[in-house]
Amino acid sequence: MKTKINELARVRFADLPTAVEPLVELSGALKGPDIWVKRDDQTGLAMGGNKTRKLEFLIAEAMRQGATCVITAGAAQSNHCRQTAAAATKAGLGCHLVLVGSKPEKSNGNLLLDELLGATVHWCTREERPSLMVSLEEELKAKGEKPYVIPVGGSNEVGAIGYVVAMQELWGQLAGMNDDWADGPTHIVFATGSGGTQAGLVLGAKIVGYEGEMIGVNVSKGGGDGPSFEEQMSEIANRCAEMIGAEARTTADDFEVNQDYLGEGYGIVTDAERESISLLARLEGLLVCPVYSGRAMAGLLDMARKGRFKKGDRVLFWHTGGSPALFAYRDDLGV
Ligand SMILES: *Cc1c(COP(=O)(O)O)cnc(C)c1O
Repeated sequence: MKTKINELARVRFADLPTAVEPLVELSGALKGPDIWVKRDDQTGLAMGGNKTRKLEFLIAEAMRQGATCVITAGAAQSNHCRQTAAAATKAGLGCHLVLVGSKPEKSNGNLLLDELLGATVHWCTREERPSLMVSLEEELKAKGEKPYVIPVGGSNEVGAIGYVVAMQELWGQLAGMNDDWADGPTHIVFATGSGGTQAGLVLGAKIVGYEGEMIGVNVSKGGGDGPSFEEQMSEIANRCAEMIGAEARTTADDFEVNQDYLGEGYGIVTDAERESISLLARLEGLLVCPVYSGRAMAGLLDMARKGRFKKGDRVLFWHTGGSPALFAYRDDLGV
């Protein structure tokens, strides 16, 4: 299916394509499906991760609108904020980060990198965040700046384009393989948080014609009333389809969100993440993170053990990054 993605403004931040590799030791240990990994932890840009792909389109849009700086928000250990700080800097834009929490005595992990990358950090509570983002925007405008606001996780129709491109990229890589993987994975498993990645991947799957299962392992309890998370992602995907001139449309039913691994909630490390982090490190020399990719991998391991995947299935773990947070979570890792 044709799109007009190539006509849209894009700033190249990522080293693409990211590798697709077999996880031989892990597959052997589980004695189940053949497991591979898509290395979006290695997108480049200040330690990489999935937000780099979204920022190629978000920062391009900011520049097209003549922005002088960007504002975005997240948790204190937000990978999105760290990658936004790097992308904005590289594009010559200022960067304001609205982070939930309070300034720690010693910064570490992503927060340390935010500071190194020159971002201005504004602390607040979760409740204060929406109003602080608005007042900060007004304040910056009053100072003559032209701020561009990037939503939490970069999850809107612009950011999602990055994951449509990623799905097209994967499709091209698989086509060149001379084994079963040329037919594509039977399942794709990844962490889902603010939903832009899943929105882009699901739309991308429709565009390339991928019909396997796509399982977003949810890492945070969505809040409140209103449309379901699946409906929200479907709306992002459909606005994205319009932007890129694709005929494909999604419905909420196209989105599988697995809520089984939420544990105590966002960023609270349990034995499941401790196990996946140490197993992947020791079997594969691969780092997954305490908040996102480690939780998604814990879900993958559990689903494999419970028989969701059969022998002969091809499971692709889409690694979305996050390893800089390992340093900030050292006390939770049990090492
Ligand atoms: C943000 C993030 C995700 C989730 O992506 P969304 O598009 O917000 O759903 C997954 N993994 C890592 C490491 C992230 O930083």
